[in-house]
Amino acid sequence: MINDLLKGNRRFVDTVFERERDYFAELAKAQHPTVLWIGCSDSRVPVNTITQTRPGEIFVHRNVANIVAGADWNLSAVLEFSINHLNIPDIVICGHYGCGGILALEQASEHDQYVPIWLNSAREAAARVDQRLTADEPPDPGRRHNLIVEENVRLQLEHLVAYPFVARAVARGKLAVHGWVYDMASGVIKPLASTPRRQP
Ligand SMILES: [Zn+2]
Repeated sequence: MINDLLKGNRRFVDTVFERERDYFAELAKAQHPTVLWIGCSDSRVPVNTITQTRPGEIFVHRNVANIVAGADWNLSAVLEFSINHLNIPDIVICGHYGCGGILALEQASEHDQYVPIWLNSAREAAARVDQRLTADEPPDPGRRHNLIVEENVRLQLEHLVAYPFVARAVARGKLAVHGWVYDMASGVIKPLASTPRRQP
């Protein structure tokens, strides 16, 4: 399996890279991505494939359940680099139905040490959904899961604009943030929420 990756790279070099030699030569000089994608690490949500974008177009940060945690130096550095240095005008947080991270909110393995701690930043989403769903109408588990996935995207958008330098960039009209959800069953991305782009 691991050798397949290197074989695949050989094919990439011989076909795509060879065909688009000029494009890759330009890219090697500098990158000018126009979107920061904050998505789930899930292998079934490959950003360039599902958005039909090319290398150089999207700056990417992925983690379990597309979480924006407050004390995450990894994401903090990605955000700072994206906004202050790459001047990226749009950030997308994209969740997806069937998310193992969201399912693990309730089905945590007793052997996991880090996953439950990581997911603490998403628990509020499940609590909000359960509050909305009425007790006398037990929801379909699939529907409840989908609602939590969507609420988690909204919750992480809130966490995102809680970063003071992100909020400042939004207020100055330099940055817009968007919440999307990807449906693996249909391949369709559904927009959920967006900050309006303000006039600078
Ligand atoms: Zn996921």
